[in-house]
Amino acid sequence: MIALWMASTDAGATSRGVTAKAERSNLARPSGDVWVYAENLGEQVKVNIYKSDGSFNDAALAQLDDLFRCVRSGEVRAVRPQLYEHLSRIYDHFGGRRIDLISGFRFVDRSSSRHYHASAMDIRVRGVSLRAQYAYAATLDTGDMGLGFYPTSNFIHVDFRAPGEPSYRWVDRSGNKRSTTKRSHTQPARKYTS
Ligand SMILES: [Zn+2]
Repeated sequence: MIALWMASTDAGATSRGVTAKAERSNLARPSGDVWVYAENLGEQVKVNIYKSDGSFNDAALAQLDDLFRCVRSGEVRAVRPQLYEHLSRIYDHFGGRRIDLISGFRFVDRSSSRHYHASAMDIRVRGVSLRAQYAYAATLDTGDMGLGFYPTSNFIHVDFRAPGEPSYRWVDRSGNKRSTTKRSHTQPARKYTS
């Protein structure tokens, strides 16, 4: 099922007490437009994250938060809105192509994961080389970005690091999207023969 949500009102939204004022002025302000398709949910959202006065549109953020929910648990968290601003910059840069969301908030991850802290996204831009996506995302790094290149699974990971942690880059060619899921190594019950 495909659900297309358009943000048109702030009604019912609760303010998260965050303004859209750029934390670091050296990054250009994006249009605010985003178009994201969550491939594991079969849902998409097309909204602008800003209100006309330039503050965040909480209703739009809430729609994106819902799209970024943990696929395995259904838990929803308020994703760091600056991550959505990066999403909008990426959307703008590549000319308004739909962005596929492979993974957003992950409630079941270890607490060391930035996905667990609703500060990470695994994405790909339709019709754009992964290297170009990675290269552009790297230009958004103001010193606190985690950036992963996943050529086998065909996505990039973008996050905000934990407070005080510097930027970090990595390449993962494993192609195992479930690499953080630990399998049980419990031995099967011993069978006795009579
Ligand atoms: Zn990731």
